[in-house]
Amino acid sequence: MPPEINCIFTKGLIPFVERVVGPEGVAALLRTAGRPREYLIAEYNWMPFSVADDLVRLSQELMGEPDEDRWARRFAEDFMDWKPSHDERSWAGAYTMSLGSPRAVYAKTGLLSNAKSWGTEELLSIGRRRAVLRLTPHPGVRMPRWACTWIRVCHERYPTNWKLPRARIVERSCAARGDAACVWEVRWKNPPLGARFWGATAGGAVAAAGLAAGLATAAAVFIGALAGHEFRWKEVSVVALVLVIFSYLVFVKGLTLPFPMCPSFIENCRIR
Ligand SMILES: [Zn+2]
Repeated sequence: MPPEINCIFTKGLIPFVERVVGPEGVAALLRTAGRPREYLIAEYNWMPFSVADDLVRLSQELMGEPDEDRWARRFAEDFMDWKPSHDERSWAGAYTMSLGSPRAVYAKTGLLSNAKSWGTEELLSIGRRRAVLRLTPHPGVRMPRWACTWIRVCHERYPTNWKLPRARIVERSCAARGDAACVWEVRWKNPPLGARFWGATAGGAVAAAGLAAGLATAAAVFIGALAGHEFRWKEVSVVALVLVIFSYLVFVKGLTLPFPMCPSFIENCRIR
């Protein structure tokens, strides 16, 4: 079967050309696609990948933009802009918003891309704010640069769903430029820590205060934070340290309770 592309592509392309070129631009796209507009804006339809390539060349011509990369970036920006009308709005926008965070979107790589029929998108690694993705065209498929740039710029834009700065992507290699695959290193900013995180951490901290000084305090803070949905080493460590000092001052120095500060095997403990 020849490679195909989902009509989410034309769902974004048709209104884009309509805005920039006008109705005659849309008429030219429909003639080249050989399909009515209704077909081309339905996300359950597919069309030959080669026709998508023809539509891109035609759109570049109609818009007077000979630079394929620049054209694709402009298209992707328009594609990702929030659209109030369901006729234009792509599920990629609404669906990725429903995932809740940029990291969740990148972790789902492969489900989002339009590439299933012509390539494989894989997640090579993912951390808290960095991921490496690879898009490999199937054997015999020529990867056009517009397809790489379109998908890549969408990945740049996902964090803007949550009003975060766009992701920064370094292209390590590009299948459209002769490499075996497109490999992208994505870096993004996460949303600020929410009430859920601080609530869980504070819960651990309150429990810890009752457990007095030392390791028990730190352990309880970490256990409390781990029970939350989000866990951050740096913030939890600071809270733990503050609590340890606080407990020491209150229970050992303030109330002069007889807690040994050193394990029993250490003689002549200097901390008192
Ligand atoms: Zn590429």
